[in-house]
Amino acid sequence: MSVATESTSTFESLNPATGEVVAEHPVQDEKAVGEAVERAREAAEWWQALGWKERRVRLLNFKGSLTRNLNRMAELIHEETGKPVQDAQLETIMAITHLDWAAKNAQKVLGPRSVFPGMVAINQKCVLEYQSLGVVGVIGPWNYPIFTPMGSIAYALAAGNAVVFKPSEFTPGVGVLLAELFAAVVPERPVLQTVTGLGATGGALASHPGINKIAFTGSTRTAKKVMAACAENLTPIVAECGGKDACIVDADADLDAAADAALWGAMSNAGQTCIGVERIYVVDSAYDAFLSKLTDKAKDLRPGFDREAAYGPITMPGQMDIIERHIKDALDQGATAVVGGAESVRKPYVEPVVLTGVPDDSSAVCEETFGPTITVHKVKDLEEALEKTNKTNYGLAGTIFSGNKARAMDVARRMRSGMTSINAFAAFAQVAALPFGGVGESGFGRIHGADGLREFTRPKAITRQRFAVPMNLTSFSRTEKEMARILQMVNMLHAKHYKR
Ligand code: NAD
Repeated sequence: MSVATESTSTFESLNPATGEVVAEHPVQDEKAVGEAVERAREAAEWWQALGWKERRVRLLNFKGSLTRNLNRMAELIHEETGKPVQDAQLETIMAITHLDWAAKNAQKVLGPRSVFPGMVAINQKCVLEYQSLGVVGVIGPWNYPIFTPMGSIAYALAAGNAVVFKPSEFTPGVGVLLAELFAAVVPERPVLQTVTGLGATGGALASHPGINKIAFTGSTRTAKKVMAACAENLTPIVAECGGKDACIVDADADLDAAADAALWGAMSNAGQTCIGVERIYVVDSAYDAFLSKLTDKAKDLRPGFDREAAYGPITMPGQMDIIERHIKDALDQGATAVVGGAESVRKPYVEPVVLTGVPDDSSAVCEETFGPTITVHKVKDLEEALEKTNKTNYGLAGTIFSGNKARAMDVARRMRSGMTSINAFAAFAQVAALPFGGVGESGFGRIHGADGLREFTRPKAITRQRFAVPMNLTSFSRTEKEMARILQMVNMLHAKHYKR
């Protein structure tokens, strides 16, 4: 096995480019996970009792520490995933931005606020607040090993929860370093712990009754197993899963910008991006010009582990077979490889592949490929582009390039996805205030932004009677006359028929 070699009690994380051992980590079993959760339960009470202001200071200091250790973190991500150092730096910067936003906005979004009680309950003072859940289990993937889990960790911590983080077996070191940096600014209690191991360690976390919510990011297949484990204790889950995102190019789009963004969206991180561009639908009149720009740019890309490489190796060896199958399947069904081809799959790298004429029902169009490959399709208009974009069980994100603001907004709204970016690739991911999450097989629930903070809380409603009203309707002393008066009032307030 190339990345995670399981022994009785440890496994190795390997550099996917060189095969060298990056580090050895313990495989934490059910007992070890249980102990971590028990420690977290006590830590959660302490963290919650610290209050908004102190938590904010601690989280901002965690952010400071992560920023000062940015290069150390990026180097580790580079070694564990094989991605270019600059991409690892960028990913860490984005994680820092989210941590900052969550720390600074938690009290405003979640803290107590008064709610207008309405006429019938005018004597009640109404308070709504969002309370922490307790212990959140975060299960993460390897493709963005700090950005992705931070989307749950930062928001769960800021909301007042303790976190037990199970990083991917391909990137355990990132999780260990993250918990280490946190412990330096919060030494009193283990508010953020990392447990390492393979899938079973994640399974133990999901099925532990002491966990109040699981934030899972990974494949749709695993999400279903995690949900089944959570079902045992009725543990709620937020699921951030796979995608098959499309980029739509309108007739009047800036084709240089569209080709540049679509190429980055498809090939950066070797295509191993949940919100990566896997399909491009180009309106007829722009198709030839767009394709030629895209292919010119794609031919210049070279994978490798050196500083000049555009992207790195395929991190998870098992993915090579899937990428190869998708390319071969498309070619067997009559597609044309305008850049690369089946021979582009050269372990551990995959060179850029651009396919045209790919049938809509082929695996390259229907399944998540997770490689530096792209299918480009000619469509007659935006409606056809949208129809094809939406013809997938996934629904994570998407991109539209268009010269017409109103048309682009209309298509963005009708795109079946959680996020859509117009005239840029994935701009929403950098905006901490915006929620992130999918529909359909891409998952449910939201991380990031105010919705992401609320995801790790439960709303609490409190009413306090300020004065007794003359009519007490919820009492056995209620009279016929009082009831008649309230019915009259309700009629006045609600019986009206509204005209358009
Ligand atoms: P994966 O599903 O193989 O693993 C994800 C995590 O789940 C790992 O930590 C793994 O150890 C753990 N796991 C495995 N089996 C488990 C089980 N039975 N119970 C509990 N945990 C278990 O996914 P991956 O290969 O690490 O990540 C790639 C996938 O993640 C892609 O499909 C990608 O699209 C998706 N992803 C989604 C987002 C998003 O925000 N929607 C972000 C990044 C990646």
